[in-house]
Amino acid sequence: MRDGQPNPVTRLADYQPPAWLIPDTTLDVDLRDGHTLVTARLTLRRNPERADKPEDLVLDGEHLELRSLTLDGRELNPGDDYRLDGPKLVIPGAPDAFTLTSVVRIEPEKNTALEGLYRSNGMYCTQCEAEGFRRITFFPDRPDVLSRFTTTIHADKSAYPLLLSNGNPVDAGEEEGDRHFATWEDPFPKPCYLFALVAGDLACLSDTFTTASGREVALRLYAEHRDLDKLDHAMDSLKRAMAWDEQVFGREYDLDIFQIVAVSHFNMGAMENKGLNIFNTSCVLAHPDTTTDAAFERVESVVAHEYFHNWSGNRVTCRDWFQLSLKEGFTVFRDQEFSSDMNSRAVVRVENVDFLVNHQFPEDQGPMAHPVRPAAYQKIDNFYTLTVYEKGAEIVRMQHQLLGAKDFRRATDLYFERFDGQAVTCDDFVACMEEVSGLDLTQFKRWYSQAGTPVLTVTDDYRDGEYQLTIEQHTPATPGEPDKQPLMIPIKLALLDGQGRPLPLDDQGGTETVAILREPRQVFRFRLPEQPTPSLLRGFSAPVSLRYDFSEEQLVTLLAHDSDGFCRWDAAQRLYFAALARIIDDGESAADQLPRLAPVLERVIARAAEDPAQAALLLGLPAENAVGDRHAPLRPQRVHQAVSGLRAALGEALADHWWRLAEQFDEPRYQSGGDAMGRRRLRRLALAYLAAAAGQGALDATRVGEYLGRDFDQPTCMTNAQGALRDLVHNGLDDQGRLARFAEQWADEPLVMDQWFAIQATVPGPDTVARAEALLDHPAFEWTLPNRVRAVIGTLVNGNPSAFHAPDGSGYALFARALKKLDGINPQIAARLANGGARLKRLEPDLAGKLGDALRGIRPGASANLAEVLDRILGA
Ligand SMILES: [Zn+2]
Repeated sequence: MRDGQPNPVTRLADYQPPAWLIPDTTLDVDLRDGHTLVTARLTLRRNPERADKPEDLVLDGEHLELRSLTLDGRELNPGDDYRLDGPKLVIPGAPDAFTLTSVVRIEPEKNTALEGLYRSNGMYCTQCEAEGFRRITFFPDRPDVLSRFTTTIHADKSAYPLLLSNGNPVDAGEEEGDRHFATWEDPFPKPCYLFALVAGDLACLSDTFTTASGREVALRLYAEHRDLDKLDHAMDSLKRAMAWDEQVFGREYDLDIFQIVAVSHFNMGAMENKGLNIFNTSCVLAHPDTTTDAAFERVESVVAHEYFHNWSGNRVTCRDWFQLSLKEGFTVFRDQEFSSDMNSRAVVRVENVDFLVNHQFPEDQGPMAHPVRPAAYQKIDNFYTLTVYEKGAEIVRMQHQLLGAKDFRRATDLYFERFDGQAVTCDDFVACMEEVSGLDLTQFKRWYSQAGTPVLTVTDDYRDGEYQLTIEQHTPATPGEPDKQPLMIPIKLALLDGQGRPLPLDDQGGTETVAILREPRQVFRFRLPEQPTPSLLRGFSAPVSLRYDFSEEQLVTLLAHDSDGFCRWDAAQRLYFAALARIIDDGESAADQLPRLAPVLERVIARAAEDPAQAALLLGLPAENAVGDRHAPLRPQRVHQAVSGLRAALGEALADHWWRLAEQFDEPRYQSGGDAMGRRRLRRLALAYLAAAAGQGALDATRVGEYLGRDFDQPTCMTNAQGALRDLVHNGLDDQGRLARFAEQWADEPLVMDQWFAIQATVPGPDTVARAEALLDHPAFEWTLPNRVRAVIGTLVNGNPSAFHAPDGSGYALFARALKKLDGINPQIAARLANGGARLKRLEPDLAGKLGDALRGIRPGASANLAEVLDRILGA
């Protein structure tokens, strides 16, 4: 804890290889009630790559009580032989090669930070990425020290019948006092952040997978006994992911067993520990009765993501944490490609872009802006960001685009082969791309080192049969980076004729091309028979913000005819943003927008049955945060009035269409699969429009309420029950006490209760602040359960701007109180939630003052994690 003092900063430029390597690590973990003893035997030898041969061996360790330390069997004495220097253990004059054995005592029961080894819900588990292993034993806790781990766990047999760690099981047996042990051996050297241990009483779903080379792998998914029926979807996703990685990337699984454990108290989504993935229950459990379609999709992609890490992250890992995107950007790209192959590619691409543009772009344009490969950090936990993950994936996607699928695969083969068993850098990854393709990617690599969203400004001109596209690039300044360099940007484009058909761009009749922008300003020329409508940035070929003065007619043409799913969606979004700007800035009414918008939506609705999921994407209005980010200063109440008013007006004007869609896609029984999900999604959107209109008195509230009530009372699945409840509660249509009934019915299902909390925390309007206060006193609310905290505080702050930005500042006061309380329990979660204040400098002055005061009030005494985020937001 610090009072207003700056945290120590770690810099990429200071990187040094480790002074000692540890080929073998033997752990003995003795789990007892109230405390745990960890005995670690490390074989150390000097690293020949470290020329300066430092005298002191320095190991990391936090919250450890050192019981004994021996070097080659000789007991070391504090003072003479070693010293504890804050969170470091220093052994001066350590030999070149030796064995160090330490015994430490830790208290997993008291570990609410959920880093290292902790006990929750009757089981022990671990989370070591990024720097949690130092809370288990003294070790060089950095990703470039790779070691072969052998782990023995001892525990009470009846309370913890299941003892798991990484690798393959090699021994097990009984011990005195109704205890038992199990030994696991991981043959693959790995950094300690991939270490995992689980002890508990869990149910298991077993299956097998036969690899391409014919080896049989045992697959085991573990959860609480009552959740055994919720593991089938994860198992199915896992098997498809294993087969896909063999086919698309040539990557085969390497151990005899692959295990996933579901844990309720977990800071992250999931963790790719070698052979023993640990998952937040929300990312692995799925059943139609309790899980929405969106959560089903999330399970599929997260299971795949963590599995894919076995190669992109585990076999080839990061040299240091600045290279985090080496594993995360690449693996997000891989899981996005997997989801695209399993579902509709066009829909998945739009969903990914929507998420990037509306969440990562604001991060890249605000106080937390940082490069995909940061140059410095205070707490690495704060850099598990959308920039590192999602923008990182876009950078890999651009390389895929530049090389083409075939060369990209050759380059990833080279990467995996050359660096197997090593800890490497983003530069090493790009070097493989260059070597295979012959391309010079020197300028391209600026994408890794330069923060901010590039803005492309496009103008055009047509004369004498020649069409000129002029493209300028400019990246606005970000904190600490006033001057930006031009980037190498692939811009995929097509040019449409008056009927919306693509014009041929070359002699072979090709209608799509990729313009590579390298200069601040470049002109691209095309011989064309007529002035075209440009279809730009097809497939969202680069993570940039594109400015072109589209006419409304051009947008309507693109929306109706473009073959590119992203460009159609983008055209629809531009039409909505323009209508909302006329309401927010020009004082027009929502009704004023109908003559222009309603016919456009009607055309989409007329073709909705062709691809209901895509239609739902095209017909949905942008989120309030996305709208607000396009207006300065940010006036959240005005934005809310505009968006909700337009939704209600469209709900009323197109009511007959919405009713018809609701009826047409009303299915008597639950159906699984992507097509059925698409139909449900479109139907729920139609009902949301009707509910919005009914809530504002523009439609018969009784009729809409009864229809939604029936969806809720006789649900075919949780998607419908929860969607109906949300529409009823958010629009003041729940006159039957359904909210209370829902809580009674699902009291024993934590993930469903999270949704119950979230529905209430996202009711629009300032009154929700008082409601959220009351939810924090609800018996089912737990400050130590990250999912529950996110369900109330996270959704209020990030998903309900008209409540969070309540004019009296009450939302900010609640936010600050919650952060302070959480910081004493779980600093990682506090810091992550604090990012919800990042729009401070964009707010209208009165609100900015109130939010600033609230956050400054909790800065004294903040943890290193929270302090780093607060300082960036407050501009300290
Ligand atoms: Zn990951």
